[in-house]
Amino acid sequence: MRKKALIIGGGLGGLSAALTLSTEYDVQIIEKNAQLGGKMRAINLDGFHFDFGPNTLTMPHYFWDVIAPFGEPEKRLPFKKIALPTHHQLDDFELVFTTDQQAMIEQLAKIDHKSAQNYPAFIREITSLYKRSEKPFLQKTFFSFADYCDPSLPASIIQMHPFTTLSAFLEKYFPHPFVRQLFERFATYIGSSPFEAPATFALIAYFELVEGTYSLEGGASKIAAVFEELLIAQHVVIHTDELVTSLNHLNNKITGCTTTKGHYEADLVICNADYDVFQQLLGRKTTKKQRSTSAYVELIGLKSPVPLHHHNVLFSADYKKEFQALHTGHYAENPTVYSCYPYASDSSNPPALFVLINAPSNAPLAVEKLTLQVDTALLKWGISKQHIVTRQVLPPSFIAEEFLTAGGAIYGQASNSLKNSFFRPRNRDSQFNNLYYVGGSVHPGGGSPIVVKSGYEMAKRILKNNEATLTN
Ligand SMILES: Cc1cc2nc3c(=O)[nH]c(=O)nc-3n(C[C@H](O)[C@H](O)[C@H](O)COP(=O)(O)OP(=O)(O)OC[C@H]3O[C@@H](n4cnc5c(N)ncnc54)[C@H](O)[C@@H]3O)c2cc1C
Repeated sequence: MRKKALIIGGGLGGLSAALTLSTEYDVQIIEKNAQLGGKMRAINLDGFHFDFGPNTLTMPHYFWDVIAPFGEPEKRLPFKKIALPTHHQLDDFELVFTTDQQAMIEQLAKIDHKSAQNYPAFIREITSLYKRSEKPFLQKTFFSFADYCDPSLPASIIQMHPFTTLSAFLEKYFPHPFVRQLFERFATYIGSSPFEAPATFALIAYFELVEGTYSLEGGASKIAAVFEELLIAQHVVIHTDELVTSLNHLNNKITGCTTTKGHYEADLVICNADYDVFQQLLGRKTTKKQRSTSAYVELIGLKSPVPLHHHNVLFSADYKKEFQALHTGHYAENPTVYSCYPYASDSSNPPALFVLINAPSNAPLAVEKLTLQVDTALLKWGISKQHIVTRQVLPPSFIAEEFLTAGGAIYGQASNSLKNSFFRPRNRDSQFNNLYYVGGSVHPGGGSPIVVKSGYEMAKRILKNNEATLTN
């Protein structure tokens, strides 16, 4: 008889683990919301399509790896590389990312010769950073203390610049503040500050500047839809609109869970919910660690197409001040504003903008002020009120309540220190040895390709070790 695996939470990490386990386990997914995908969520607003959550898509092969055992990965998820994905602007400075090194150098040369000169060395460094971190860090799951005792781990960590901040690391290559800001922004992909997060996270720059940024016809949420199709084909039982309220256990084993609709038995449980919130279900205290940022989002339907790039960034003049405000739980006075305009790559849906401002988690919200800041950004992008057909605000409380995250933090604890970056909550519970954790709030961290990869790697390790039979 096949063993039973329960997945709590249908976010990308949980779906990836469920699909991989489904070849050998009877898998059930229990999701609080009406749909799977977690923060990756398609939203229809007055006929306009929006993708909440992941808008910047990178590392297609991480997604393909998970669905490859079920055939035709590239056909099911036909990622298309965007030639000029992201336009950045600060006053008179502007630059559009591209994986074409020469084109980047030419743009940088118009801003600062030294930065242009150093760009090839920077690309070499982030490439080797990514390569050095893939095996010991991104591919590795941490189940127990023994996993940290791998003698090669300290050497691997040291090579990943853990003691330098991202900003200080970038200063070596890019003396010009605007050029640094372009790459400092990658710290926000993990909800952290470039002035605190280790330089290790320069590896995120590798994803976009070396491998590239992609679009998917129909939108990013197609990824969750394809995963769901395959889960159904694999006979995974999906329970939606159902909240897990407690876990049942006997000695050091989880035996199942209780939900708002019933009870389930399991040989192993994978938790894809926010780690801190879930600890409360186990009767444990939550940590006092600094949380990652949240997001203030506006969804805006447009009357007609506008000449924007797929991704657009309007930087604040004082980036340090912006992160100091976030660190102390405040909104920045003049924040950086990001917009995603998928119509630039795929006109199958009407033109619409997803606008995002980094928000502190758990902070009071001044919607009128933020809406005005978005209005100012829209005008800079050539969009006046007359262009807008529909508009909706999704504040950090939406993230907190909809996906049950502590304070609306997107990535659990912030990666603003060496400890919180390299020693995030591990992937197996220290008390219950058949309880596992996957997703943005645990090792190795957030971002859609990373959580999908970690769900896949964890499930492969469970299959390889036949973990459900472990007794110690
Ligand atoms: C505004 C925003 C923008 C983002 N932009 C990008 C981007 O451009 N690129 C990128 O790669 N990533 C981006 N991300 C990050 C990315 O969305 C996440 O890292 C990733 O989707 C998280 O996946 P996860 O596996 O951690 O699960 P989650 O998406 O966190 O899903 C967890 C699921 O568990 C469910 N759940 C929780 N508790 C329970 C319970 N007790 N019972 C049942 N179900 C429960 C929740 O309802 C939820 O559906 C963004 C996120 C946000 C919010």
